[in-house]
Amino acid sequence: MAGASFILAINLFIAALFALAFFLVGVSNRADRAAPCFSLAYVFGMAYIATEFIIPLDDMPQLSYTAGFASFLGAVTAVTYGVARRYGRSLNPLAMGLFIVCAVLANWLGYLLPHDAVPRNLIYQAPYAVLQALAAWAILASRRRQPIDIGLIVLFLLSTLQFMSKPFAAILLGGSGDSAHAYIATTYALYSQSLGAMLQVATGLLMLTLLVRDMLVEVTARSETDPLSSVYNRRGFEERSAPLMQQSGLPAAIILADLDAFKSINDTHGHDTGDQVIIAFARLMRDSTPPTAIVGRLGGEEFAILLPEANIATARLLAETLRVGLAALQIPGLPIYARCTASFGVAERMVAESLTDLRRRADSALYNAKRAGRDRVIAALPDADAMPTHPLAGTSLARSA
Ligand code: GH3
Ligand code: MG
Ligand code: MG
Repeated sequence: MAGASFILAINLFIAALFALAFFLVGVSNRADRAAPCFSLAYVFGMAYIATEFIIPLDDMPQLSYTAGFASFLGAVTAVTYGVARRYGRSLNPLAMGLFIVCAVLANWLGYLLPHDAVPRNLIYQAPYAVLQALAAWAILASRRRQPIDIGLIVLFLLSTLQFMSKPFAAILLGGSGDSAHAYIATTYALYSQSLGAMLQVATGLLMLTLLVRDMLVEVTARSETDPLSSVYNRRGFEERSAPLMQQSGLPAAIILADLDAFKSINDTHGHDTGDQVIIAFARLMRDSTPPTAIVGRLGGEEFAILLPEANIATARLLAETLRVGLAALQIPGLPIYARCTASFGVAERMVAESLTDLRRRADSALYNAKRAGRDRVIAALPDADAMPTHPLAGTSLARSA
């Protein structure tokens, strides 16, 4: 078996493994729209490798020449489509279709040029280079810059360079043979196939890692989000708050809210209407809080907002805004005259106070708000020996709130 044929056999095996791996990822996560593209890409890759094996046996070489080119073009196109999908870019199907038809036609005609001619090789390699560059652009334009994203950009740019350099590498390495039959035994074929195999493995591995990373991010986000209200659930709220609360001097304030007489809303208007109240109140909280705020649904009709860098005055003001905003909301399923209200307990963090202690104080303020007749905001008193973390705490601004 000639050197290049041996590498072709290895490439075939690798392509089959990746086709299977991406197929399995696609089956296990039906929402993943990139995995089927990548699986298809490696199936095309296998077809391309098969045509390279057939070349020496072929009596209609122009057909297998262009068939091989078209198979690999299919592979590179599918990769580019998958990458674009994964990174939220859309490729114009008409422009892509036109590009592919032109590339295949040019390749068919390019076959008539002398086998070793640079223009013929350029016509062969340039479409691959363009598609690889397009994949790199899709990632660059997404502005995602984690190591996997950067690694893929580098690999796609390297592939672009590799395809563009092949016609010149052919000259440097003593030519690509004067016929399709001779090609397979050349040093150039060995170089081209082995570099191709390395890039194929590296790109395949990174694309697999990319899909697994995105799947993990998605699963984690889902396990930390409340499906009804779309805010964090208790676990998400605690996970996001923990790193902030580890900074002992970080000023922060918390708002705890509990819907009033929610049981009677359910009993009178139905559970679905109760759900609508939860959805509307959560949306109001998301829309009224700064981006740094952590909003969570801790239980049935109990919510929390952690406000980094906020003092008691800001927290009270925000809670009042939410109280008035909720009462003014028109909720689907509730009669026009019905008002929904909530009670609020707010507390400002003392130096090195834990989330549990801060929440305990806000909770007792909330309890006082309920006891005092509901539909109100009550601020927690600091523990007697505690120091406020915020420079404004205890000033006239904080007191006036
Ligand atoms: P209070 O003013 O003292 O807070 O009274 P309440 O009725 O709001 O409080 P209670 O704890 O007695 O009742 C809470 C109700 O919230 C009971 C439960 O059925 C309801 N609930 C909990 N989770 C959900 C949910 O996801 N959807 C709906 N519709 N109701 C829920
Ligand atoms: Mg309640
Ligand atoms: Mg409750």
